[in-house]
Amino acid sequence: MNLENIKKVDPAIAEYIEKELERQQTTIELIASENFTSKAVMEACGTVLTNKYAEGKPNKRYYNGCEQIDKIEALAQERAQKLFGMAHANVQPHSGAQANMAVFMAVLKPGDTVLSMDLSNGGHLSHGSPVNFSGMYFNVVSYGVDDNGSIDYENVRQLAVQNKPKLIICGASNYSKVIDFKKFREIADEVGAYLLADIAHIAGLIAGGVHPSPAGYAHFVTTTTHKTLRGPRGGITMCDEEYAQMIDKAVFPGMQGGPLEHIIAGKAIALLEASQPSFKEYAQNIVKNAKALAQGLLDNGMDIVGGMTENHLMTLDLRKTGKTGKDMANVLEEVGITANKNTVPNDPQSPFVTSGIRLGAAAVTTRGFDEAAMREVARIIATAIKNSDNESVLKQLKEDSLALCKKFPLYE
Ligand SMILES: *Cc1c(COP(=O)(O)O)cnc(C)c1O
Repeated sequence: MNLENIKKVDPAIAEYIEKELERQQTTIELIASENFTSKAVMEACGTVLTNKYAEGKPNKRYYNGCEQIDKIEALAQERAQKLFGMAHANVQPHSGAQANMAVFMAVLKPGDTVLSMDLSNGGHLSHGSPVNFSGMYFNVVSYGVDDNGSIDYENVRQLAVQNKPKLIICGASNYSKVIDFKKFREIADEVGAYLLADIAHIAGLIAGGVHPSPAGYAHFVTTTTHKTLRGPRGGITMCDEEYAQMIDKAVFPGMQGGPLEHIIAGKAIALLEASQPSFKEYAQNIVKNAKALAQGLLDNGMDIVGGMTENHLMTLDLRKTGKTGKDMANVLEEVGITANKNTVPNDPQSPFVTSGIRLGAAAVTTRGFDEAAMREVARIIATAIKNSDNESVLKQLKEDSLALCKKFPLYE
């Protein structure tokens, strides 16, 4: 990481960036929505492209001087379309939440009904939470998961028939099972709703061929680019050709001004990387590693919502330990593991305290962790939770996790 100029101009920021690099290198990153992007992607994000205004779309801009910008954005679009098998991609949304907002703006009017997964059951804020625009201006009906942590498709169908939503959303922030896009489309067709598949979490798995694709089923597909897809922070909204104009208009001028073309260049590079054979192997390894982590935790007597995971993440269910997600996430941080507290289905604790911890394998897989390393991570987690008051045990565990980080170096 070259910080030469930052060091000269702003030593304080340079110091914080260097310390953040050190934190990433020396801790085990299990936050399921995070990853480590490539140096090539990071380079693109720090280029002169940040200087350019390019409102509009390739070859239809409101500003002059967009010749190179047009090529970059068109390439990013093309690569997204090809990778996900969708007719149209708008690569301008600044984030996943905005990628979703574009769909809401394109097909809904305030007050229209949306059927989506409840936030405390694994859904996302931008799918209709009352504190988000999606919940403030639309009538939201929620489905959840059953006691096995799975979507009950018959329940989704009943809710759809009863409430006649205009938009059905599938795709989640915390769901460890494969999503059946075909079933969702059948339900959408039955009630005349649009189907949005928000693949923010599983985009890399879909690109790598280890999770079924929503292409051919969903009218709209949204994603973040920074989770399993391993690109820069941002969003993409994709759709069938007939909705392309509606989506483009919703993004600009509907909800955004100038696109972040330096980030779009980073997205283009990440999409290229994700189309290569090595990425298939990466995606396969993510799932193998997640399963090894889950098995290790089960073998160490821990509970996991829904049991074995089918993708890159899982939620540790702490209810029988009598400990909370909030406290145990802090204990894990003490032993060098970063993860976030999360509600479990029917959680007796508040969303701020919770009875669960969400764990994901995408980031550690990027730095080369293998199944043996994941079993060691499982041992560290289980031992830390069982000995959360024992400082000397925790100190030893911190050494153990540092040893793993040294074995699998990052950005060296
Ligand atoms: C992360 C996520 C988003 C939002 O992404 P941001 O870039 O944080 O706005 C949207 N939908 C789902 C399902 C997500 O998991």
